[in-house]
Amino acid sequence: MIDATTRLLIPEAERGAGTIVVVGSINVDLIAHVRRHPLPGETLHGSGGQMLPGGKGANQAVAAARLGGSVHMIGAVGTDPQAAVGRSGLQAAGVGLEGVREVEGPTGLAIVTVAEDGENSIVVIAGANAAVDAAQVTAAREAIGAAAIVVAQGEIPREGIEALPALVTGRFLHNPAPVMELDPAVLLASDPLVVNEHEAALVLAQLDPGASAAERSPEQTAEALRATGIASVVLTLGAQGALVADADGLHAVPAARVTAVDTTGAGDAFIGALAVGLARGDALPVAARLASQVGAFAATGHGAQPSYPQAGQALPPLSEESA
Ligand code: ADP
Repeated sequence: MIDATTRLLIPEAERGAGTIVVVGSINVDLIAHVRRHPLPGETLHGSGGQMLPGGKGANQAVAAARLGGSVHMIGAVGTDPQAAVGRSGLQAAGVGLEGVREVEGPTGLAIVTVAEDGENSIVVIAGANAAVDAAQVTAAREAIGAAAIVVAQGEIPREGIEALPALVTGRFLHNPAPVMELDPAVLLASDPLVVNEHEAALVLAQLDPGASAAERSPEQTAEALRATGIASVVLTLGAQGALVADADGLHAVPAARVTAVDTTGAGDAFIGALAVGLARGDALPVAARLASQVGAFAATGHGAQPSYPQAGQALPPLSEESA
């Protein structure tokens, strides 16, 4: 039940331009390091076993707060011991937790397998994140309406995400990952929509079921998404950087050349940084350059949140010739 006492209240002084509200998942990541990913039916020896704070929502909130953003989180944790782990990264980064409630049962859990080449595969168990529904989101309408940037992903119920566009008055930074079936109006309200190539294909198929499934270049993919009516699109391309499509056309965003050791959460670091850039008024292609540096930085460290930079920390330079 949501009542007045669970409503997210942001101090008057913090309202208005610059505030970032992240509506999304809070997980614990259980990490296993393996030489290579197991085949179906196969058992492999691994190492690790640490429990680290994660979840796409929390990761993005932590990345933004570490870079100096004023960030508030709307989400849920369970009543198990893992709840403290899930909250710990947010607390340490100074994210406002007034909008995080505790619901009976387990905290969200992600079982992350990281191979030697830095590629990861992930199984996500929603746990308390399944309780972040339209009622909880609507109860936070004041904070959402006052935010310059509202960030959402795909690890809470679709009803929670679908409640957002009516409440957002700033920019809706939408990262529909993992992709689920959504009211097309929610996808079209994204500004920007941030997707990798795999997610882009799934979103395009939802918005334009008649579109050919033919191979598209990244440029064609970004333009096809914009052509559906989305105001701006950021297509992330891993070590190739990213592409921005907005009203001014296509902008290539170079990557930084780094030695990736673990790309877990690199996309979330990218989005947190993008939110900070947009919240301080940067144009989208400018914010995407900072995001690309921060995404690369995150790929050089293990885990998600532990690999994110602090404000003032040196970031790897973008490699302009790769643009
Ligand atoms: P996701 O993990 O969501 O698929 P990406 O792998 O595209 O996201 O990574 C997001 C962003 O992080 C990229 O657009 C890029 O800017 C940066 N990034 C990720 N991996 C690397 C890498 N190996 N080298 C340099 N930058 C990277």
